[in-house]
Amino acid sequence: MAVRVKCKKCNREAKSDEFFLDPVYKMMVCPQCVKDRKMQEINAKKEKQKAEAEIAAEKVKKDLPPGWDSDDVEIERRYSDKLKNSAGMERIDDDRIKYTCSKCKYKFTYFTTQGRPGRCPYCATPAKV
Ligand SMILES: [Zn+2]
Ligand SMILES: [Zn+2]
Repeated sequence: MAVRVKCKKCNREAKSDEFFLDPVYKMMVCPQCVKDRKMQEINAKKEKQKAEAEIAAEKVKKDLPPGWDSDDVEIERRYSDKLKNSAGMERIDDDRIKYTCSKCKYKFTYFTTQGRPGRCPYCATPAKV
């Protein structure tokens, strides 16, 4: 005849013949503990898959050009305009831009924080940054 005993793991009572030697806990536990452990494993797996899917989605987003959030033609056109405008400019870091004069093609470093030089040092054409 089965007697009710307290589970050492969760302190819940269960029938003694339902106790199970759990390979993970390495002790005799009640059926509820085994169930809980399996649920936790499934949830952990689901969480991991979710995190991985989020990372993958994030990566796809990064691979797309900035401002790309729909196949709207207008956005696409504006994006290519932006590319055209920034031709002759190459960002060096947060402050500096390698600028090529649109008129004489003289290359100089433009400091964005100071807004200098305002003109091409060679032909004095205003720098459009
Ligand atoms: Zn238990
Ligand atoms: Zn110039």
